[in-house]
Amino acid sequence: MRVRAPGKINVYLEVGALQHDGYHELATAFQAVSLFEDVVATHADGFTMSVGGAVDLDGVPTDDRNLALRAARLLAAETGYEAGVHLDVHKQVPVAGGMGGGSADAAAALVACDALWDTRLTGPELHRLAARLGADVPFALRGGTAIGTGRGDVLNPALARGRFDWVLVTSVDGVSTPKVYGELDAHRERHKVDIGPIATRPSVDAEVLHALRAGDPAMLAAALRNDLQVATLRLRPDLAAVLEHGEASGALAGLVSGSGPTLAFLCGSPEHALELRTVLAAAGHDALHVHGPVPGARVVG
Ligand code: ATP
Repeated sequence: MRVRAPGKINVYLEVGALQHDGYHELATAFQAVSLFEDVVATHADGFTMSVGGAVDLDGVPTDDRNLALRAARLLAAETGYEAGVHLDVHKQVPVAGGMGGGSADAAAALVACDALWDTRLTGPELHRLAARLGADVPFALRGGTAIGTGRGDVLNPALARGRFDWVLVTSVDGVSTPKVYGELDAHRERHKVDIGPIATRPSVDAEVLHALRAGDPAMLAAALRNDLQVATLRLRPDLAAVLEHGEASGALAGLVSGSGPTLAFLCGSPEHALELRTVLAAAGHDALHVHGPVPGARVVG
């Protein structure tokens, strides 16, 4: 059973004030893009996995710390399934890149095991298990374009028309998401006088919804926002020049994807994206052309 799930770009990410429990409320607009993880599930007695793919696999565990294996075990526990599974994960999404690759693996593993074991969970049941695995897993299950609130796991579909073309610049070294949040909290504390009060209940700007509905990349470019970007750039100052280079080379706008370090440049057309990809690749960057929105985790064979 082969299932494919997409990576994502947060085209809007507002991070609310730090809560007493150490978390932040988020308001985000996700777009699933055409960079996919494939998970092949086969019958087995225990729970095992292997990982391959075109990305640097350093730091990807193949034991119970792996989100895909945790997804399979959770589904088995919840449904009373008594045998196991072998998962073969093929990664295209950069590891610790801010594009939700591990979450896509978990969503794909849930769908693959549900089909392989014939456990037949409903959409809402799968969504509930996904949310227990991680805040980005429900979106990888659903795909398309969606608004996430809470910790990003409370999803509402957003109407989106047309296609958006992106050039991604990936980095070999990932960044840790908790470290980026820590850096953001420290930055906000240092600059609290200038920044002023931070919303406890953030919300996605109406301009973003409007641009997605209109399928208008120029309008979306003007509305892109990522509150984590300032923190990621402090941890990875080298990325600022790459952002400037992409924007000076014709991108409508560029931003850090999620917690980074992947950078996403929005382009006006597929041709425009091909040109930008060529320019950035010639400058020595790992640049990829992707588009969104694309569907969530689904059986492909
Ligand atoms: P986050 O969900 O933290 O924003 P990300 O999209 O930046 O993550 P991922 O590649 O999903 O990055 O994973 C981050 C870390 O999670 C990895 O460094 C790794 O230690 C761990 N991990 C667990 N399962 C997986 C998996 N299936 N693929 C990749 N990393 C995984």
